[in-house]
Amino acid sequence: MAMELPINPALAQLPVYQPGRPLEDVAREFGLPVESLIKLASNENPLGPSPMAMDAMRAAIAKSHLYPDGNAFLLKHKLSTHLDCPPECLIFGNGSNEIIELVAHALIQPTDEVVVSEQCFAVYPIVTHLFGGSLVTVPARKFGHDPDAMLKAITAKTKIVFIANPNNPTGTLVAASEILRLIEHVPRNVLLVMDEAYIEFLDDPLDLLPIVLSGSHPNLILMRTFSKIYGLAGLRVGYGIGHPDFIAMLEKARQPFNLNSIAQAAATAALDDVPHLECTRENNRIGLAFLQSEFASLQLEYIPSYANFVMVKIGDGVRVFQEMQRRGVITRPMTAYHLPQWLRITVGTAAENNRCIAALRSALGK
Ligand SMILES: *Cc1c(COP(=O)(O)O)cnc(C)c1O
Repeated sequence: MAMELPINPALAQLPVYQPGRPLEDVAREFGLPVESLIKLASNENPLGPSPMAMDAMRAAIAKSHLYPDGNAFLLKHKLSTHLDCPPECLIFGNGSNEIIELVAHALIQPTDEVVVSEQCFAVYPIVTHLFGGSLVTVPARKFGHDPDAMLKAITAKTKIVFIANPNNPTGTLVAASEILRLIEHVPRNVLLVMDEAYIEFLDDPLDLLPIVLSGSHPNLILMRTFSKIYGLAGLRVGYGIGHPDFIAMLEKARQPFNLNSIAQAAATAALDDVPHLECTRENNRIGLAFLQSEFASLQLEYIPSYANFVMVKIGDGVRVFQEMQRRGVITRPMTAYHLPQWLRITVGTAAENNRCIAALRSALGK
């Protein structure tokens, strides 16, 4: 029988988010043992979670009959010390994806505009449309953001400007001077979201925290995550750093127990595991340089990356993606980003990177 429910019209046009393919899915499809596969599709940490976080998770299991601390007190205070910022400036989300949704709850009403760049993180458009907002997409400049053009795209209807820096999926970085100019010029009644999911991979990151803490820009929020360098993507922990008055508004839209107790324990412990963070950064530095030099020697165009993944132009993206999967290597085709000739590949361990390049060569017949 046909469904006659009066579905929210915003959902009719909305695509379902396509994540990187899980190992088990690909194992089933190709009849391969799951242990024989590697996943370089979702920018996860190839070294795994921090061992200190794993110990904390094991200890937390015994208390999992209790509701989590709805205010994540220990994690919030640990992070507050770690960042040297008052706890009132922090809000946690079930992944920073949830922070994206919380800012939309706070600001977007039907017909409001949200400004993004071409090839932006896929969750910004989805959430904008979900709230009935209208997406204004600014053409990219060499696959990266064009902050001046984004400023020009702001109208009286604009509520939010989203920038991921470094950007996913392109790995590009906007120069510090351009970000600072953007922060100065975004109108005070428009929220600027600086998504810093990959900031910990940068050698010399622009530190926007002093601007947030100065209180001079209540329309600026930073977003970070434990999913990438901290290796806790499966637990879903992200956070926002903003003006206490705005954070207090977001708190109203947050579900009370959005962060489970095991995730809270793991994230708290992960903040102490400096060696794990440094090994991850070093592995990434070496692996990214390796992948990029292999692409160069294969005469493949790539976009020099500042993150833990890199986009490479290989011709028929879906075909090469399929061929590499058959060889046990899962990558990410960029069709959904209107880049059908490109793949995005996450930096793995040295062994995984070697295997990835072997699979790529063989898929390309090189
Ligand atoms: C991975 C990613 C996130 C966050 O993911 P969560 O797992 O939800 O914390 C946010 N923004 C960008 C640009 C990302 O690539």
